[in-house]
Amino acid sequence: MENVLKKMYQNTVTALQLVYKSTTGIDHKLLNHYILKINQLHDIDSIIYQASRCLSYILDYRFFAFAMYDKQYNGGIDIWMDPKTENLAILNHIKNDFLPRNLDCNIRYFESTLENNQREISHIDLTNIIPFKVMDSQTTAILYLYPRRPLLNYHHELIGIIVKSLATAIANFLNFKKLQNAALVDPLTHCYNRRALDRYIAHDVACAERYGSSLGIIMFDLDHFKKINDIHGHRAGDAVLRAVSKCVLAAIRKSDYLARIGGEEFLLVLPGTKFSKAIELAERLRSIIENLKIKVDDKIITATASFGVTFYKKGSSKDNVLKKADEMLYEAKRQGRNRIKPDLRLYHTVAHENHNEKPLLH
Ligand code: GH3
Ligand code: MG
Ligand code: MG
Repeated sequence: MENVLKKMYQNTVTALQLVYKSTTGIDHKLLNHYILKINQLHDIDSIIYQASRCLSYILDYRFFAFAMYDKQYNGGIDIWMDPKTENLAILNHIKNDFLPRNLDCNIRYFESTLENNQREISHIDLTNIIPFKVMDSQTTAILYLYPRRPLLNYHHELIGIIVKSLATAIANFLNFKKLQNAALVDPLTHCYNRRALDRYIAHDVACAERYGSSLGIIMFDLDHFKKINDIHGHRAGDAVLRAVSKCVLAAIRKSDYLARIGGEEFLLVLPGTKFSKAIELAERLRSIIENLKIKVDDKIITATASFGVTFYKKGSSKDNVLKKADEMLYEAKRQGRNRIKPDLRLYHTVAHENHNEKPLLH
């Protein structure tokens, strides 16, 4: 009996879906498929891509953009666009919807970008772009659509459903990211903690081992930091740690990462960076830190740091490369601090990288 009822129900649903499809031209099954996908995905690019595919299917849009700004990360507006456009008016139109004004924009495109769409939107009338606000509070997110056909009531209903799914999927993603961040980021300096370092360096060492790619390692420690605390107080010491990590984070590449491995001891991992470049970077960072003027209340505090520089050699191990960096750092301290100390064993590696290049040694 139960099975018969189930079958009847399914038949009715299918019949209603067919009626729906014949009046709206929209296949409910496909719509459900997209909505399910949006809710199952865990990375933001795929979530937004699926939402764009779904909207393209329903509306056959000329232009799609999704823009998002999260105050906590303060990293500017992330914008996904389809198709890719050089039209600055569109970009400014989007930027104007976000506060504070003049945030940096980080633009991404989908691979499906169509060339004829690009031509269509090169002289777009901005009033044709309909914005749909997805969230506000900590995160501002807006979906922009330029539909190819006029929007009817049922289109609005469907866009409403897709936008809600998108909002839920993105909220889940951001919550997950925030939890992940809290577990991996040092709250004082905003660089990685030891747990994050262990996770990422294992991967980078494995890549260097497998593909023979370069992996530079810099370990540094603030000099006489105890004195800074003793003279200016622990709060001032914290401000120094924050200032140092901020300037190092600003000086490194996106593919590099900084971890706080002790009170005032840090490790910089530089995937794809040759030993000679790691030495140059260490020297640059040493000089940047030496020249920092850290204002705490009405005092200006300065600091210096000592650096050990090494490089992952094929056949070695994560523990060995960290041990070597530590030895080099110890040597830099022993020789008087505020200096860099590269791993001398690596002369030949450097000579191999570039025959004309002499290693910078202290
Ligand atoms: P060296 O040049 O040999 O590295 O001397 P140092 O004084 O920097 O090293 P030492 O290990 O003697 O002292 C480190 C100090 O760092 C002691 C500790 O109180 C301080 N410290 C560790 N973590 C923090 C922190 O989170 N905030 C502050 N303000 N101080 C910290
Ligand atoms: Mg120290
Ligand atoms: Mg120390």
